[in-house]
Amino acid sequence: MKFFDKINELRKKISEVENNIYSGKQDFLEIYERNLQLEKEIEERTHELNVANKRMLTIQHIWDMMNSSKPLISVMETIVNSIQGELGYLHCTIMRKFTDENGDYLMVLAEAQDVTIKRADIVLTEPIQTRRLAYTQDAIFAQTLEKREIHQTTDIASTLRAIMPDISEELVQKVLEDKSVKSIITIPLYSREKPFGIFGVFSSREELAKSETDFLLMFAQQIEIAITVADLFEAVKEQAVTDGLTGLYNRRFFEDYVKKEVTRSMRSGQPFSIIGLDLDFLKHINDKFGHAYGDVAIKTVADVLKTNARSIDIAARMGGEEFNILLPGISSEGAMKAAERIRKAIEEKQLDTIGNITASIGVATFLEHSDNLEELMELTDQAMYNSKRNGRNRVTAASSASEISWQEIAVNTFTDILSKHNMPIPQALSDELCEKLKTNQSQKEILYSVADILTQTYNPLHENGIVKSKLLTAVSLAKRFDLPKDEIDKLKIAVLLYDIGNLMLPKELLLKTTPLTEDEKNHIKEHPLIAAKEILQPISYIQDIIPIIEHHHENWDGTGYPAKIAKNDIPLTSQIILIVDAYFALTEQRTYRSKMSPQEALAEIKKDCGKKWNETLVNEFITLIEHDLN
Ligand code: GH3
Ligand code: MG
Repeated sequence: MKFFDKINELRKKISEVENNIYSGKQDFLEIYERNLQLEKEIEERTHELNVANKRMLTIQHIWDMMNSSKPLISVMETIVNSIQGELGYLHCTIMRKFTDENGDYLMVLAEAQDVTIKRADIVLTEPIQTRRLAYTQDAIFAQTLEKREIHQTTDIASTLRAIMPDISEELVQKVLEDKSVKSIITIPLYSREKPFGIFGVFSSREELAKSETDFLLMFAQQIEIAITVADLFEAVKEQAVTDGLTGLYNRRFFEDYVKKEVTRSMRSGQPFSIIGLDLDFLKHINDKFGHAYGDVAIKTVADVLKTNARSIDIAARMGGEEFNILLPGISSEGAMKAAERIRKAIEEKQLDTIGNITASIGVATFLEHSDNLEELMELTDQAMYNSKRNGRNRVTAASSASEISWQEIAVNTFTDILSKHNMPIPQALSDELCEKLKTNQSQKEILYSVADILTQTYNPLHENGIVKSKLLTAVSLAKRFDLPKDEIDKLKIAVLLYDIGNLMLPKELLLKTTPLTEDEKNHIKEHPLIAAKEILQPISYIQDIIPIIEHHHENWDGTGYPAKIAKNDIPLTSQIILIVDAYFALTEQRTYRSKMSPQEALAEIKKDCGKKWNETLVNEFITLIEHDLN
């Protein structure tokens, strides 16, 4: 018995030990579980902390950008790129709602440069950023903006169709092949309580957590602040009448004021004069001593103008190194004296490091030289330019605009060509253009517009204003080569007319999107020149302009057409047209390629240095364009 008792006791003990072991194991497992749980929690918290940190940093980055003086678009670009890159979205975009005569539409203001959008742009062949996107009323974008609430959709196809109603089903399917985008989140953007646009985010997840909504709304708020700040900044700039660097009046103020002066002068019969002044060799000062010294030179001129001006004179900085002074009630004699006093005062200034500076001056008087403001400003400019050509540091009086102007010659030429009706353009259009040419508004603006409209008949992508830009660029370039006024006038007319032969080309050829055959290429190359010559030959008073047009496709190395002449045998005016035309062609949209940025176009032009154009021309052209871009 004892033996069994012992056994039982032992068994009990074993079972106790077993129990102990078991519960120990349980405890251990529990602790282990708890540890795992804790570890997981720590990991989650760390992750949340990391995300929060990233959000903080991103916001801080955005905030820094907003406080810099960067333009709104680059602030927005930073925002979208930061959010996309740092916060792990597939794509971010900011779109703005616009309204014009054709209704409401959206345009992308900024988009993150990520693989998602790059792929979409390739599939769609034209970048979304350059498109006019439809603002379809019942679609997500309009709903988001109108209801002013955040939306999310997993229906990518419908969203795409809503912004591009013309898109083919095939393309939609191609875009959808990118399966990584699971949803699009749209957040409304308002600026000063008015609907502005949409902040859109492409997510790789279908769900949208509350915390995510909160921080997207917070980013939207940052964007709204950036927009409002930029708007206010623009408004303040609009109201400004003075120039920041010099404290002189700015161009806007001068232009408004001089218009009022015209009215006063017409009423009273009293003249007023304009002194136009351009600092000599500022580029040289900048290059040699640095931009800060260039600024000192500009400020010195401004100080001279301030001390020499009467209280009723208006001295303005028109931009860069160009100044105008309006002298109410002063005839040309008085204005010449004032101008000479200013010239001398500038010359006598001794500047630290720079030494002497000088300025070239032109003077013109209203009612004396012209009773048309636009013409008066041009005469002032021409007089100033003559001072430059004759050695700088001098004053030149305007010559009266009595001689027949280039504008009149151009108006007569267009009228003659159009009324002959030997070009394949609709009768109604040529009648309309002839009427337009007769009106008394600014002759120059009418000429630009007629040339734009004629170009649009064979190139629908041609934008209004391009002819004017081309002409101004060509003239600035010609001035860099010190061309005399009559050559520049011829150049202006040639710029308006050099492509007129294109009107005679078959439309199908110009609009072709597929590569041209060799025959077609030659046709496009040679034919317009022949046509232009034919069209212009009968017009007696522009015979000296025809050679400029005829040779505007000759290359510096003699490989151009039609005469294959080379180097200085090509009129400089033709060379100028060739390079200006090339630049504008590259920066314009074509049916077969998208437009280039100014920098890309300049790089392209550089490639043909020594072939199409010589180095001097290229360098002057690049300096000119870069000057305008700054
Ligand atoms: P010219 O005697 O023929 O007038 O020669 P220029 O060098 O004065 O004229 P150009 O038009 O070749 O160059 C003008 C230069 O003035 C180029 C441009 O960068 C510089 N410029 C324009 N605005 C400013 C400015 O506000 N500050 C400084 N430092 N330079 C400026
Ligand atoms: Mg200058």
